Amino acid sequence: MELTDELNSMDSLKWMVISCPYCGERLDVSVDCSVDYQQYIEDCQVCCRPMELSVSVDEHNEARVNVRHENE
Ligand SMILES: [Zn+2]
Repeated sequence: MELTDELNSMDSLKWMVISCPYCGERLDVSVDCSVDYQQYIEDCQVCCRPMELSVSVDEHNEARVNVRHENE
């Protein structure tokens, strides 16, 4: 089974490191770089509180992730 081929074909998915705005823990999130801008809620894997993630992708295909408290 060729798992690497499968992973390479999904090159619009990137792993980013963020910090939880509640507990400060570092978390890995997968980001879909085929979308210019997206916003979604993801629960922290450590403290389980909902974070609002906004992901923007620039013209060099570099993703930026902003993390905020859900209620801000
Ligand atoms: Zn947390």
